[in-house]
Formats: sequence, C-alpha cells, structure tokens
Amino acid sequence: MSSAQTHTGATYNADLSTGFELESEDAESWPEPAGLAERCSALPRWVVVANCVAVSVLIWWLALNLSGETSNRFPVGGVADFALASLLLAVTVLASLLAIRLHSVGSLTADRGGHRNRVSGTDAHTPVDPRTGLATRQHVEQRVVETLDAADWDTPPAVLLCEVRRLGAIRDSLGYLAGDEALQLVGRRVESAVAEKGFIGRLEASVLAVVLERCRSDRDAKLVAQTLLDCLAEPLTLSSGHVVSVSGVIGYVSGAEGEDAGQLLSNARSALGEAGRNARRSIAAFDPSAKAAAVARIELEQDLRGALERQELDVHYQPVIDVVRGVADRFEALVRWHHPKRGMVHPAEFLSVAAESELMLDIGEFVLLQAGRQAVQWSVLSNKPVVVSVNIGREQLVGGNLAQGLAVILDQIGLPPSQLEIEFAERVLEGDLDETLLSLQQLNMAGVKLAVDDFGTSQASLVRLQSLSMVSTLKMDRVFVEGVDSGSIDRRIVEAIVHLADSIGMAVVAEGVETAAQASALGELGVRLQQGFYHRRPGPAEDMADLVSGVIDRSDSVTR
Ligand code: C2E
Ligand code: CA
Ligand code: CA
Repeated sequence: MSSAQTHTGATYNADLSTGFELESEDAESWPEPAGLAERCSALPRWVVVANCVAVSVLIWWLALNLSGETSNRFPVGGVADFALASLLLAVTVLASLLAIRLHSVGSLTADRGGHRNRVSGTDAHTPVDPRTGLATRQHVEQRVVETLDAADWDTPPAVLLCEVRRLGAIRDSLGYLAGDEALQLVGRRVESAVAEKGFIGRLEASVLAVVLERCRSDRDAKLVAQTLLDCLAEPLTLSSGHVVSVSGVIGYVSGAEGEDAGQLLSNARSALGEAGRNARRSIAAFDPSAKAAAVARIELEQDLRGALERQELDVHYQPVIDVVRGVADRFEALVRWHHPKRGMVHPAEFLSVAAESELMLDIGEFVLLQAGRQAVQWSVLSNKPVVVSVNIGREQLVGGNLAQGLAVILDQIGLPPSQLEIEFAERVLEGDLDETLLSLQQLNMAGVKLAVDDFGTSQASLVRLQSLSMVSTLKMDRVFVEGVDSGSIDRRIVEAIVHLADSIGMAVVAEGVETAAQASALGELGVRLQQGFYHRRPGPAEDMADLVSGVIDRSDSVTR
C-alpha cells in the first residue's frame, strides 16, 4: 500500500485490490497513522494506561537520579536540574496521552469499520457514518469513481439505491436512536447479503447505496435489488427488545462507458424517484425518458408557482344540457393555464404536478372564487339561479375543513350554497373512506350539491355507492358513452347505470357526448342530462351567453 497527500490534506491510500480509500479531515473519519493506531487497539486499554504511567514515573526517577548522580544535590541542588526533570516528565505524559488517544481511535475504527472490512473489501479506516456504522456518502461517491475507472464494459458496474421506509414511524414512536439502530441493522443485513457482490454505504438519511462492480445483465442488478427487498422484509429486533419492521423501494442503473460518477448516481436517484412514485412496483430501472419527464415536471412546477400571481390561470365553462328542454342545466368550471411559452396547458398535465404540492389548494380556491362570482353574475343576468359545478381533488377533500372554507367563500361572494355543485372523482372513494365520508357529509350539511365524477372507471364503484346518500348526481364516464349508439355492451351498461341511479335517487349526467347518434341513444335510455363536444365545447364565460339567457328555471326543474 502506498500513500499520497492531496492538496486538501486528505490522504489516499492506494491499494490495487481495494482501490483508493479516502481518509479525509471530515469529522466522521479517523485520520491518525493507520498501523500505530491498529497496533495500540490490539492491547487492552488498562495495559496502555498502566504502561504509560510506569514509563513516565521511570523517566522522572532516572532524571532525578542523573541530576543528583554524584551527590544529593537534588532537590536543593539547582533549579536547572529540576526544570530538566520536569520537562522530561511533561514529554512522557504527552507521549502517554497520545498513546491512549491512538488506542481509542484504533478501537473505534476497528469497531465501526470491522464489519464492512469483512464484507466489502475496504480496510479498517473506511470513513464511517457515526450513527449507523455504514460507509459515508463521500466514500460511496469515491467508490463509484473507482469502480467506473476500473470497469470492464462487457460486465458494467451498477449502482442500486434503496430507500428504507418507515424509519420515521420508528423514530416517532421509539426515538431517534431506535431509528438509527433499525437502519444500522438493515445495513448489516444488506452487507451480509451482498458481501461478495458489492460495496454498501449510506447516501442520504434513509437511502442506502450498493455499488456492484460487475453485472452481466440487467437481470443481475435486478436480482440483487430483490435480495435487498427480501432483507428489508424481515422484522428487526432492536436492543430494547422492540420488534420493528421497515419496507423499501429500489432504483438501479448500469454504468455506461464515458459516464462519470455524478451522472451515474444522479441516474440511480432518478430511478429511485420513479420507484417511489410507482405504487405497484418497488423496483425501478433507470429510464432516461422518465428522468426527462421528471425534469420537465420540476420546471412545470416552478412555472406554476408564479402562474396565479401572473394571472395566467383562467376558468372555462362547459354546460350540462337538459336535452328534453333544450336548455343548460348547469355549467362545469374547468381550469385553464395560458402558459407564456407553451400556450394552453391541459389541466391533466399540470394538476397532477399541483397535486404533489400545496399548489392544488391555491388553484382550487381560485377556481371556486372565479366560478362562484360567475354564477352570481349569470344569475343576475338571467334572473334565475344558475348552478356551477367545481371539480375538487382528493387533497382538497381530506386533510382540512373544506366545508368551512367553502362557506366563507360563498358568503364573501354572495352565492347561495344550493347554486354550487362539487364534483369529486369516483377514485377518491378508493381506500380508507372515513375521512372522505366525513368531509362529504360536512359539504352536504353546508347545503352544496355533490356529484360523483368519472363514474364507472375506478375499483370503488357500486359497492360504495350505498354509503353516498348525500350525493345527488352520477357523472357517467365517457368510456360508456363511446359505444352507446352501436348496440354493444356499452348500451347495456348505460342502461344498468341509469336503473341503479334511479333506484337510489340520483340524477345521471352522460359525459363526453360527441355525436348526434350518441345523444339520441342516450335520450332513448332516459339520460336527459348530457355534456360533451356535441352539445358545446368548453369555453370562456362569454361564449356561454346564449345558454345563460335560456338557462333552466330551477323553480320547476326536475333535476335534483
Ligand atoms: P372532467 O372533470 O371529467 O372534465 C371533463 C373533461 O373532458 C374536460 O377536460 C373537458 O374539456 C373534456 N370534454 C368535455 N366534453 C368532451 C367530449 O365530448 N369529448 C372529449 N374527448 N372530452 C370532452 P379538461 O378541461 O381538460 O379537464 C380534464 C380534467 O381535469 C377534468 O376532467 C377534471 O378532472 C380536471 N379538472 C379540470 N378543471 C379542474 C379544477 O378546477 N379542479 C380540479 N380539481 N380538477 C379539474
Ligand atoms: Ca368533472
Ligand atoms: Ca369526468
């Protein structure tokens, strides 16, 4: 092994088998001379201390005797002799302290690095994360550099990142140390499992990194990823006796020639993000298009942040037509974003980005205010109570008191609650229903109308309808409308939905009506409320003027 001092003062010990081991001045590393500390650590601590004391006393005694060799001048023999003896004593005490320090350092390094030493091919001086005993991020990065430098591109290296989940819950319930211990146990397990194949370290708070030097194929990396997940699946017994469990997601990437360590780790991070977003798969390989999409999403989110202040958002309206009476029954508010460079951005594109942040709530409030004001204005113009429908996302429905906020807004703009309909997608009813139902009940009690949107497209359908007595409208998704005029199965499904809605006292709105044939087939099946491009495309409020003047008069309306 040879060593070289870098300009930063860090020491690289070059070793052909293990590559470079970085020993930096980082507080987490141990920069003392390797061999000496190691030798000190081999002795019990009391032997080192006793030895140091004995040597100090011996040297002082010798000094005293030398200074008074011919006579008994000392201690009265002269200040110079006394000073010399004391100086020797000070030097020996300092040497002893250094020996004791080296002993401690050697022991610590051996304790923390010893395990990795066995499994990862690093020496006892690997910089370790003091809380988990795993190699640090800095060391992982260094390892990736070395692995790329030494790569055989027929069997390229790979990096796997594993985000250990549920650590937050462990910390919340059992404390920080328990969380660290859980991560440490996971790390050890993973180390043992991939001992022959790779190097492991801690990249971020709860993200472990495994660097594989050689992979014959994507399958190799995937197999290791599966092994990691298996490690995580086993319960962990903490020193306190608590048994805890964690889970995880993994992203992995194979190195490509010419790529640097930063790119490789960034790609692995992107794959990890993809795995985290995907509810169905816990393992994701790096996908360049997914990374590009993620970058685009971040840019979109940044743009969206200022969009409200820059007044780039707008609300369009699409009427629901009562085909029997030939008038508009209500108007659905649909948000629009006039992006300065990209033109009109579709809500499906930007609302999913907004849903990942608090932006969804701001946008929701904006649409509600705009649509509410519009309903007031139209009601004055037509001298009839005009109803507007506003879409809301799951984020708005749970986690806050929507009904209360809404009541304040309605009061502020002077719109009676009965002139507002809230549409929520059927998929909102999937999963835990308690909070959703409570929120819906509060809205119902506040006097607003409720509609289930995209009905028939989620897993939640029929089974949960019975708990939705407060909902007055089913908006049948356009997938059923598409084939309703062709005598196919769609027609029978529409028929069944109409009967079902009728039996539980709900009105049906058919969405996405695009042709005259669909409109008349739906009419034959008793669907009098229809919405779609055939009747009217969504547009700005001004485009609805003709419909507003002939809007349905609710005093004798048959719709609920
Ligand atoms: P949605 O609530 O199901 O709205 C209907 C969507 O279908 C609208 O798309 C509308 O333009 C489109 N559409 C209407 N008639 C037809 C038709 O005949 N054929 C076809 N192919 N499409 C038709 P848009 O405006 O792009 O909105 C997409 C989705 O974004 C909406 O689906 C709704 O879920 C959501 N959304 C729109 N505005 C808001 C909003 O303010 N808040 C929330 N939370 N979601 C909104
Ligand atoms: Ca809708
Ligand atoms: Ca819909």
